[in-house]
Amino acid sequence: MNGAHPLQEKKRKKSIKEISPIDVYKHLPKTNCGECRESNCMAFATRVVNGELTITDCPPLFTNEHHEALTELADLLAPPVRVVTIGKDDHSIAIGGKYVLQRHEFTYHNPPPIAIDVHDLMPEAELLDRVRQIEQFSYNYIGRKLVLNAIAIRSTSHDPAVFRQAVKKIAEISQYPLILCSFDPAVMEAGLSEIPASHPLMYAATRENWKSMAELSLKYHAPLTVFAPNDLSLMRSLTKTLHTSGVSDLVLDPGTFAENGLADTINNFSLIRMQACRENDELFGFPMLGAPIAVWAGEEISEEVLKWREAITASMLLSRYADMLIMHSLDGWVLLPQLIWRFNLYTDPRKPVSVEAGVKKFGKPDRDSPVLMTTNYALTYFTVEPGFPSH
Ligand code: SF4
Repeated sequence: MNGAHPLQEKKRKKSIKEISPIDVYKHLPKTNCGECRESNCMAFATRVVNGELTITDCPPLFTNEHHEALTELADLLAPPVRVVTIGKDDHSIAIGGKYVLQRHEFTYHNPPPIAIDVHDLMPEAELLDRVRQIEQFSYNYIGRKLVLNAIAIRSTSHDPAVFRQAVKKIAEISQYPLILCSFDPAVMEAGLSEIPASHPLMYAATRENWKSMAELSLKYHAPLTVFAPNDLSLMRSLTKTLHTSGVSDLVLDPGTFAENGLADTINNFSLIRMQACRENDELFGFPMLGAPIAVWAGEEISEEVLKWREAITASMLLSRYADMLIMHSLDGWVLLPQLIWRFNLYTDPRKPVSVEAGVKKFGKPDRDSPVLMTTNYALTYFTVEPGFPSH
């Protein structure tokens, strides 16, 4: 080896579709011990290749004896788009972890969290009320609870003390993962120092501030967004520099532009993801952040039009290929299409959404009650169920 940085090496890596159960089996302990609840190691390998189990389900693999095999297996199965975790402990969210460009090729993992913004000049009551609304937003869709996932705190004061105070107030009442938004390293540090162990997503490093932001990311172990609007050369250069500086948890924002800029937006997101998934380009192998909220910075037009634009932009970004969104509107008619579209995009195309098969009781049936036969597709079941009130 010539000692080149790993991100500079261009190597041909097997895609998830090319990995066979034998490829995985070769690295397993091969004792057929059953600790994974499979009958043997080959059955386990098959389910790993299908994405139904992960290598963490094989405890013996994590002993010293199998350290080398574990490393090789982890490398073999690593997705071309890395996983980045935001938030702490049970409240953390994972973004990225994509194996394929198109959903039908395998399946998409880690549904994109949707963050809603607040800002540090909001009066306290308004701020806390908005946080409560974000947390309480919920919709029951064919038996699944669809919710919002994170809070983006914007510094509009550009004052470190004011920003710190806003972060403090929100952290006191919410466990939701946070995105701290400021291009000013002093403001960013004020927010980070208030929640030093919470791993918020930092937004963002730019051409101008990358060095200070990299230092903060390393100091607080916080993932860092790279913002290079409509400039993929700059994105590549910044990513390479930041990774070389030791920052490995990066999120890419190539810019979200509404109306006439929408084509550039989707092109940039698509090019980055194609490079990662088709060319194994490690400099672009990071999750991407879309910001439909950007439509609110545009021209002065009615709120309804802006909300409509935000909804359209969000749907397009969910389809092409955002791993997380920041939005502004809290209206149901803007958000529900996103939550349902996200749910449908991120179900495994090989497995229809279903309910457990069996006899289901509605209301208080007796010997004269009708018996209906349906499939156990969730859409069928939840279409029939409301017709039979439980009392
Ligand atoms: S736990 Fe690991 S070693 Fe044991 S059967 Fe499963 S795959 Fe094989």
